[in-house]
Amino acid sequence: MPNQKNHKQALELPIFKIISQVATSLQIDAYVIGGFVRDYLLQQQVPVKDIDVVAIGDGIELANQVAKSLPLNTKVQIFKTYGTAMLLYNGIAIEFVGARKESYQTTSRNPEVKPGSLEDDQNRRDFTMNALALSLNTSNYGDLIDPFNGLKDLKSKRIITPLEPKITFSDDPLRMLRAIRFASQLQFKIDPICLDAINKNAERIKIITNERIVDELNKILASKKPSNGFKLLHHTGLLKLILPELTALEGIEEVEGQSHKDNFYHTLEVLDNMAATSDDLWLRWAALLHDIGKAPTKKFSKTNGWTFHGHEFKGSKMVYQLFKRLKMPLNDKVKFVQKIVLMSSRPIVIAEAVTDSAVRRLIFDAGEDLEALMLHCEADITTKNPRRFKKYRDNFALVRQKIKEVETRDHVRNFQPPISGELIMETFSLKPCREIGLIKDAIKEAILEGKIKNDFDEAYQFMLKKGKALRLKKT
Ligand code: ATP
Ligand code: MG
Repeated sequence: MPNQKNHKQALELPIFKIISQVATSLQIDAYVIGGFVRDYLLQQQVPVKDIDVVAIGDGIELANQVAKSLPLNTKVQIFKTYGTAMLLYNGIAIEFVGARKESYQTTSRNPEVKPGSLEDDQNRRDFTMNALALSLNTSNYGDLIDPFNGLKDLKSKRIITPLEPKITFSDDPLRMLRAIRFASQLQFKIDPICLDAINKNAERIKIITNERIVDELNKILASKKPSNGFKLLHHTGLLKLILPELTALEGIEEVEGQSHKDNFYHTLEVLDNMAATSDDLWLRWAALLHDIGKAPTKKFSKTNGWTFHGHEFKGSKMVYQLFKRLKMPLNDKVKFVQKIVLMSSRPIVIAEAVTDSAVRRLIFDAGEDLEALMLHCEADITTKNPRRFKKYRDNFALVRQKIKEVETRDHVRNFQPPISGELIMETFSLKPCREIGLIKDAIKEAILEGKIKNDFDEAYQFMLKKGKALRLKKT
């Protein structure tokens, strides 16, 4: 990590020089602050998406003047209520704000604001590592302004608030999620005093909108080892308030010497496994939610021990409700997650006895999500017994092999019925009626079961037979 006081080399993008010149001409001081400075000091190889600039004076005016120095079509978006302005520069969002002092009411995370000094503005930042500022002023261009020892905290990978943590988190409870998200993203530790303050303020999360919560959850899910974030959410009491479906999975029950695994910690392992194989956010959501149907379906009986009958079906219904509650988009993404949850045990069942017809059905039902489903199932193996682990892996390898074989032979993926409804109507002089559906279904079933080949001739003969059985007359 660069140690010197001056960091001119961080400010080489031409936009920084422009902001500096414009600020000088307006006679106001300006600083880069927040994520950009943090990530630069961490030497994170992350693409820059946004840059925050704080002006000791009118931030909106600074943004407007900067835009004038940029290509003609540069638009400034002004957010009056927040006193901020944003412009896009080469795809990077540059956010301008006037330095401010904040005071909070208990009912809202939106504070009253008054103009303030750089130090006031650094005080209102969530963590010391996010309060680091680099000067854009000509007199000390590139100097690091670090009143809270944020650099030291960065080095020791510590997340801590600049001011009293209880007040910081209570003022804006979103910061609790941000702390955990940064801990998960950067693999940092949250200071114990802050963790304790999050614990005490957990209930305050209720004033945060679902959209903001989901944003942070998505960032936790996108981190390298998402279980770190979810364990913190759990231990601070936040998870129970945000995703009670998950905390309901915690614990091991034992009856008559029989116990089941802890499905909460199992879920977190599956999530980490998934994160190690795929960057897909929705596969990670599916991993997170794949067992939520287990809490409401859990039963013990003397004959069968612990069972979770129908948990996949129940779980997929719960996924929809959960997405709806969190105001997540109810589009093809929720359908995808529901589908993976619903089908999450299918390849496992098949692996126990790999038959052609079971594999054909799997290919047919999973359709274009088959690879995703297989990845999910492979991530779902968390046994610590190496012999069993190998057995399960080998079984899935066999299923994959069989999928390949069946696919090249039977072409059931993106299944197109070889006989159309129109042909059935024509053959038996039918108007639209129930029988057409019956015949079409019977043909599909016969193909999937392997009774007939997936081709026109065999399907045609089968249709005639089926029509006869339904007492239809061929024209
Ligand atoms: P990233 O953009 O990588 O998610 P960031 O730290 O830049 O991380 P932003 O949401 O872009 O996060 O916020 C920019 C800066 O604004 C932060 O670094 C921090 O200084 C400040 N900030 C953002 N949200 C809050 C908050 N809820 N409370 C206090 N300060 C905040
Ligand atoms: Mg940022």
